[in-house]
Order: sequence, then C-alpha cells, then structure tokens
Amino acid sequence: MRKVGSKDTTPEMIVRKIAYKLGYRYRLHRKELPGNPDLAFIGRRKVIFVHGCFWHGHSMCKRARIPKTNRAYWSDKISKNTRRDEASLLALREMGWRAMVIWECELHDLRTLPMRIKEFLDG
Ligand SMILES: [Zn+2]
Repeated sequence: MRKVGSKDTTPEMIVRKIAYKLGYRYRLHRKELPGNPDLAFIGRRKVIFVHGCFWHGHSMCKRARIPKTNRAYWSDKISKNTRRDEASLLALREMGWRAMVIWECELHDLRTLPMRIKEFLDG
C-alpha cells in the first residue's frame, strides 16, 4: 500500500506531467539512488527532485519562514532536511548522476518550466 499524501503531492504531479508530455519516461523514487529522487531518468543518469519550500528550507523564500512558535524545533528539523538534501546531491554527483531541484514556489511559472526541464534532460 502506498502512503497517501506523502508521495503523490501536487507539485510532484505537476512536474511528472510536464516531463511526460515532453516525451521523457522516468522511474519514481528509486531507493537505490541517494535521496530517493522524485523522478529518475535512468538512461540519462539524471534525476529531478521536487522540493516543498518549507520542509526543504528554500533559502530566501517566503514559504520557508520558520514559525514563531517552537522555533528551535522547526529550525533544527529543517536544517536536518537541508543537510540530508545536500548530502544526497553530493553522493549523486559522485556516482556520476546529475540532479535538478525544482522548488514548489517555482511551479507558479509554468511557461518556463518545461523549457528548463528539457534543457536539463537534453543538456
Ligand atoms: Zn520557495
């Protein structure tokens, strides 16, 4: 059974649909790859992460503001996530994979995103 709500989040679905429409085929959440990337393009050795701004601590983003209550708890939790993300990106690079991170807040401009995805995957 798959967990509802955690894996099929809307931002990820938006990115999946764009990649699919552009003609790319991908695998989801490959456990053998560091960070379980949301989309993995195996033959191209490329992955895409779709990150929620709050949970992944998008720097300078207003969606990533730490709540005033339990501030220490949240900043600790989110900096752990951020460090884990950085470690995953580094590990992927060492394995010869390239990674693209798409932030939730970037999904508002859907005119440029398909082009960015295409450039990343074909480049
Ligand atoms: Zn953001």
